[in-house]
Amino acid sequence: MSRRLDLVNGVVELAHGSGGRASSQLTRELFQPCLGNPEIDKSDDGAVLSVEAGRMVVATDSHVISPLFFPGGDIGSLAVHGSVNDVAVMGARPKHLTAGFIIEEGFALRDLKRIAESMGEAARGCGVDVVAADTKVVKRGEADGIYITTTCIGMVPEDVHLDAVNIKAGDKILISGSIGDHGAAIMACREELGLSGELVSDSAPLHELTQALLESGATVHFMRDPTRGGVATVLNEVAAMCGLGMEIREQALSVKEPVRAVSELLGLEPLYFACEGRVVVVCTADGAEKALAAMQSHPAGKDAAIIGEVADGLPHLVVNNGWGGKRIVNMLTGDQLPRIC
Ligand code: MG
Repeated sequence: MSRRLDLVNGVVELAHGSGGRASSQLTRELFQPCLGNPEIDKSDDGAVLSVEAGRMVVATDSHVISPLFFPGGDIGSLAVHGSVNDVAVMGARPKHLTAGFIIEEGFALRDLKRIAESMGEAARGCGVDVVAADTKVVKRGEADGIYITTTCIGMVPEDVHLDAVNIKAGDKILISGSIGDHGAAIMACREELGLSGELVSDSAPLHELTQALLESGATVHFMRDPTRGGVATVLNEVAAMCGLGMEIREQALSVKEPVRAVSELLGLEPLYFACEGRVVVVCTADGAEKALAAMQSHPAGKDAAIIGEVADGLPHLVVNNGWGGKRIVNMLTGDQLPRIC
């Protein structure tokens, strides 16, 4: 009988990703207590899932964030929320999750345990099971700590039909809360901007909020979570999808003071900063108040606001400053905010 893993001072070794005895010890002693459930505990090559008839959504997302631990979350909880939210904004109810881990040799087992615990807690909070997982270990220097890819599966209720092609001029644009909290928190940690403590990531699951919204009776045409590239990128994408302009009012956007400070230090619009717990919604004008009330009645959407409307004209994002000035905000070019999620 080999010794148990040293979860205090031990590190991940190449053998832990070999598929042999060390791999199964890592699974048994570290991952299973955090992520275990009857399906994954069978240790088969794949999970057999019973699903309802209907439309299934599948979304996958890789997480390479640096730093791994940040105010408001860590790569484990983020990897769960990331895929769950992608399924949620498609109008689906998230059900199952898979996870792939790429770990650098020498990574501290206590950090891996902390990440696995956080993933387990986040998954339970979202009501999803991690039904399949894989671990690979690469040599020191061939990766930076740990990368996690998650895939989430969910089912779309029969009466939900979201499609950007249904967006019409006059539709309203809403967002569920303040913008840029995640991106600003990560940049502040990384660049040591001296604002730590004030900035907290908004990383959170959205599936309950999106369900409440879809059940509100409002006619929702489109939802998307403004992650990498922020609200500006989502609104440029939706403009391109429906061929209409997106016009938002600067004053309607909630930007926390420390987020604004980071944006000024970096010379970047907060509209480009990633959110990890917000949803952008486009719905018909006559349903907007109903949608807003449904969002505000959920804790994740208490600061929701109507921020603008869909306009005839070129498929651009136009920001109105409220003083008669309008400017076009394009998609972010290049990679100015790498490894933000
Ligand atoms: Mg997304």
